Amino acid sequence: MNAPIPIRIEEAGCGSGEVLRQRGQREVFCGLTGIVWLHRRIQDAFFLVVGSRTCAHLIQSAAGVMIFAEPRFATAIIDDRDLAGIADAQDELDRVVTRLLERRPDIRMLFLVGSCPSEVIKLDLSRAAGRLSQRFSPAVRVLSYSGSGIETTFTQGEDACLAALVPTMPEAAPGSPPALLVAGAMADIVEDQFRRVFDELGIGPVAFLPPRRANELAEVGPNTRVLLAQPFLADTAKALENRGATVMPAPFPLGEEGTTAWLRTAADAWGVPAERFEQVVAARRERARRALAIHRERLVGRSVFLFPDSQLEPPLARFLSRELGMTLVEVGTPYLHRQHLAPELALLPAGTLISEGQDVDRQLDRCRAARPDLVVCGLGLANPLEAEGLTTKWSIELVFTPVQGYEQAGDLAELFARPVRRRGLLAA
Ligand code: SF4
Repeated sequence: MNAPIPIRIEEAGCGSGEVLRQRGQREVFCGLTGIVWLHRRIQDAFFLVVGSRTCAHLIQSAAGVMIFAEPRFATAIIDDRDLAGIADAQDELDRVVTRLLERRPDIRMLFLVGSCPSEVIKLDLSRAAGRLSQRFSPAVRVLSYSGSGIETTFTQGEDACLAALVPTMPEAAPGSPPALLVAGAMADIVEDQFRRVFDELGIGPVAFLPPRRANELAEVGPNTRVLLAQPFLADTAKALENRGATVMPAPFPLGEEGTTAWLRTAADAWGVPAERFEQVVAARRERARRALAIHRERLVGRSVFLFPDSQLEPPLARFLSRELGMTLVEVGTPYLHRQHLAPELALLPAGTLISEGQDVDRQLDRCRAARPDLVVCGLGLANPLEAEGLTTKWSIELVFTPVQGYEQAGDLAELFARPVRRRGLLAA
């Protein structure tokens, strides 16, 4: 196991803060997890995991069983014959896909999702996707991406999926007017709220990636301005920049402050006057502040330790510290994209300890020594820490729950207040 390497980041803006970079044993889910929210988002897409029975169990237990609807994800199991090279996995895949598409004419977009087993046997899913796309287009578009757990964290599955979509986005006509593209999956209700705000601000046209339907992919080109709605989209942002789009750095739309700064970034790019901006957001900001105040009472002055899991940790830390008055003990993140996170890091208190990557035993020692009032961590760490008397919040819930925007600011705060309240009741 490597020793931790502290690296100073002068550009971070959080004073003399250091990034503690660790490379050791990690406790994270794999990128297949993203299918759980992506299949709800793109309503005519199907996710076919090419993996093992373990992958099938992970997806089934994470997503639950759909009783009333046809499922929109499945696993093509790689068995012993494939692993031994007896069967031609490409032929088998063609058979499975053909059967699936014959049975499900409602599918418009099919993702072949790679896993650890498919990567270990070097099954080339991009070749399969190209071949199958030719065969089934224009009715169905077939794409591929990796959701494997080899060197990834679970939110990278969404990044890989969206990055795979970017090359299929139509080219914007030269000289077309500026257009806003919001990248990152959000709940439909949150998207609708943001659409209304952009509309009232006179910002548009606005499109979202991923879209709700396969044929609603936005055009992209040099006039596309991108706002990232999630902090874990490094590959997607790069792919959009390669198509000529400009990514606008902004804090992420978590909490009242983050949402305001995020919206203001777009408003500034569209030249919306400050008074108009205030008029549109004032009532919404006030509602968010009132909703936050209830939870702030419970959380102010308490300490929080964030383990690296979702990559949402830096914006969450900013929200917990600035809007709820919590003290940050350590802010862990699996990866730190310095450029996309620069506006967030600039808002963290001076001296905040940020750690990138993980060496879980060392990190657990630091957490135990600090005895924080709240620990934000993955499922695998939560139960043991609870057994040691620490109060925990599962970070994966923050990705499954609508948390962005003004109307959700109170719900986001409640996700952290609830375990603290529960611990108080247990102790009483
Ligand atoms: S992709 Fe890898 S880590 Fe994820 S469930 Fe399958 S085998 Fe496990």
